[in-house]
Formats: sequence, C-alpha cells, structure tokens
Amino acid sequence: MTATENRRLALVTGAGRGIGRAVALTLGKRGFNVAVNYRSSAKAAENLCGEITAFGVEARAFEADVSKAEEVTALFRAVEDSMGTVRVLINNAGITRDNLLMRMKTDEWDDVVAANLNSVFYCTREAIRGMVKARWGRIVSLASIVGLVGNAGQANYSATKAGIIGFMKSVAREYAAKGITANVVAPGFIDTDMTGVLKENVRAAMLGQIPVGRMGCPEDVAGAVAFFVSDESNYLTGQVLAVDGGMTMC
Ligand code: NAP
Repeated sequence: MTATENRRLALVTGAGRGIGRAVALTLGKRGFNVAVNYRSSAKAAENLCGEITAFGVEARAFEADVSKAEEVTALFRAVEDSMGTVRVLINNAGITRDNLLMRMKTDEWDDVVAANLNSVFYCTREAIRGMVKARWGRIVSLASIVGLVGNAGQANYSATKAGIIGFMKSVAREYAAKGITANVVAPGFIDTDMTGVLKENVRAAMLGQIPVGRMGCPEDVAGAVAFFVSDESNYLTGQVLAVDGGMTMC
C-alpha cells in the first residue's frame, strides 16, 4: 500500500470554486486525499486537483449534481471504486434563488431545497455506512447565519440552512457513539460568486453590519471546516459555528 492510500479520504461537494475550493485545498494541505465534486465547473475542478496533488496527496474530480439521489449514489460508487471509502464528508454545494415570498415561484423553492437540503441528506446517507464500519467519520455541512436569524428575500434559502442544522444535530446524536462527529459551519458574508451578484448598496449595507469591518474570504471558512475535521475537535459534535466577523454574536 502506498503512502497516499493510507491517508484518509475527504469528499467535498461543489468544490470547483468558492468556499468548497478553499476547503478542498486546505484539507489537501493537511494531508487528506480529496475527492473534488463539481456540477458544471469541470475545468476548475481539474485544475484544483492539480493544485491539491502538489501537496503529495491524491485528488480526483467527479461530476455529479448532488440535488439528485441517483447521481449521488453513482458519485459515491465512482469515488469508492477509484479512491476508497469516504471518511470525511463536507456538504458544501449550495445555491440561492432569492425572491420576496409573495413573488417566490414554486421552482425557486424546489430548486433551493433540492440543491441545499436534499443534497445533504443524500450525501450523508451514502457516507454514513462506511464511517460506521470504520468507527470514525467527520461530517461538516455548510449552513449560513441566515438559517439562524432569517433574511428578507431568502425564505427558501434560510429554510434549507435551518433544515441543515436540525438534520446535522440529529445525525450527531444518532452516530456519536460510533466515533462520528457531525457539525455545521454557518458563514456570514463571504466574498464568492454567490455574493458577487449582490448590488453595491446591498453589499454596503451588509458590510455595515460586520463588526470586523470586512467580508469574509473562503479561507476564513475553510479554517473552521478543517478544525471540525481535525483531532482538535474530537469532543465536539452537533455544534454550529458562525464564521461571520461577529455579525450574529449574542
Ligand atoms: P458559490 O461560489 O456560488 O459556489 C457554489 C458551489 O456549489 C459551486 O462549486 C457549484 O458547483 C456547487 N453546486 C451548486 N449546486 C450544485 C449541485 N446541485 N451539485 C453539485 N454542486 C453544486 O457559493 P459559495 O459562496 O462558495 O457557497 C458555498 C456554500 O457556503 C453554500 O452552501 C452556501 O450556501 C454557503 N454559504 C455561502 C455564503 C457566502 O456569503 N458566500 C454565506 C453563507 C453560506 P459548479 O460550479 O460545478 O456548478
């Protein structure tokens, strides 16, 4: 068995860009083999794998739309066949379809629920069996502070992020005795494509609510995710860590 085959394998959903990309890089740097899931960012995912393998670990890109149960099943089979059992799952993939409730179309609700919440259920259900068998596993899901405090124009998105928190706390309770931890990172206002679409006045208003005085960067979030994966957090499960520059402190 080679050195890289002995390493633990982490699967990061939606890792081609944004926060997922930073998480995949950070885990690679810390010695994990990384399965890079993407939906449409094929080239970016391939390039990322090149950057990760430069750390001396293995990285491969896998296309799958994680909002679809059958694609998630196929994703896990492909990852297991070529890289081994997933020991660390990072549920990162997510979308927004913002609208005021009175105008919100059923599609806008359904798409966000499928991409943000159903995906977390499908991926965690697939990953848990191997983790139970190994009696070790780390699951981290990306929620959002709006799942804690709500946000006008994001009833669909906020509902999925609050749903992730309830789901993860249940998983944490169900599998704590099996050596598996399940925690949530709730980012605030992070500089990625997701927030890049916001109008200047909205960005300025958000910035005014951040005590540290700047937007977060993907690496700020990746550090918190890596903490939940590390041995330093062995006694932490069912927790929600807001990475928000102090926006929601209470
Ligand atoms: P982003 O820049 O818009 O990137 C979204 C990522 O999710 C992309 O890699 C995309 O893949 C992937 N994705 C979306 N739907 C997918 C699907 N059905 N199957 C597979 N991959 C899918 O977003 P981000 O800012 O990095 O956000 C990452 C996570 O953090 C999300 O869960 C988001 O809700 C959460 N978050 C972000 C912020 C923020 O301020 N940015 C704040 C709170 C929470 P492709 O490019 O391959 O299509």
